[in-house]
Amino acid sequence: MPNLKNPSSPADGYRGRFAPSPTGPLHAGSLVAALGSWLDARKNHGKWLLRIEDLDAPRCIPGADQEIMRQLLACGLNWDEEPTWQSKHQDRYKQALERLNGLQTIYPCTCSRQSIANVLEARGVVTPRNQEMVYPGSCRPQPIPQYEDGNLFSNEGAWRLALPSKLTLQFEDQVQGKQSQNLNQEVGDFVLRRRDGVFTYQLAVVVDDAAQEITDIVRGADLLNNTARQIHLQKVLGYTSPSYLHLPLVLDEHGEKLSKQTLASAIHTDTAQQALQELRKAAEHLGLSDLPDGKETSIAEWLLAATQAWGRKITSS
Ligand code: GLU
Ligand code: ZN
Repeated sequence: MPNLKNPSSPADGYRGRFAPSPTGPLHAGSLVAALGSWLDARKNHGKWLLRIEDLDAPRCIPGADQEIMRQLLACGLNWDEEPTWQSKHQDRYKQALERLNGLQTIYPCTCSRQSIANVLEARGVVTPRNQEMVYPGSCRPQPIPQYEDGNLFSNEGAWRLALPSKLTLQFEDQVQGKQSQNLNQEVGDFVLRRRDGVFTYQLAVVVDDAAQEITDIVRGADLLNNTARQIHLQKVLGYTSPSYLHLPLVLDEHGEKLSKQTLASAIHTDTAQQALQELRKAAEHLGLSDLPDGKETSIAEWLLAATQAWGRKITSS
């Protein structure tokens, strides 16, 4: 399993991150991602960065970032370096879009969801429930020209990344194993900047992971499906790809995905006892066993034991 970079060696440049969207306080699922990425960074003597992904303003809740930071600190999950907010880095994303324009790999799209749905329907393509529609390429010019940079930010349409044909991307996930995704068939040319001017998660996460020199991404398996897109974008932009570890989804005793309700309810971290209790639940989801459970255990002691257990898990499988 994961990422066995000789755990006994000193810092080898490992840089990990936790990148919550401030759409609410931490819940059980996001604490699992926070704890897993923190433990992996600590085990590898690396740095753990906190990045607030607040580009989609309508979905962000004022104060949620501060609440998330309070919760992390209450759980002893301290970060290295100053936290960053994506909303303060618009220039980075603009520059990336301009570069992609220079490479003639982006084009504007004025399709509505409905017009995309209509095209797909006419082609007999059925999109399974809660899956994104595969963009049929309706607005894609042939060949792709280079646009005036000023037009990139005019908000007359969304900007999509033009994928090469026959793009099947493969990568190794440290936990989930070999992954393969045919981006043409499963995703299509995807949006980098929305018509309302918001840079998308796919663009921002790739640009920031590169800007912050992230070497190891540890996050929930709910994001696994985005990874091929991100690796492709890294290649186009000439960035080094980090290694990926997608934490298993939280399952109940029947092996079913936990209900939204269980996962989505905020965790309680008002007292150290409560925080420890939440950490214990998160650790259980991560498959860590034999951690101290005495009343006297401090969070710091418990985290140390968890870091050691994380290493055992890594080396034993
Ligand atoms: N901001 C994303 C989320 O909260 C996670 C980004 C990532 O870890 O790549 O779902
Ligand atoms: Zn279009």
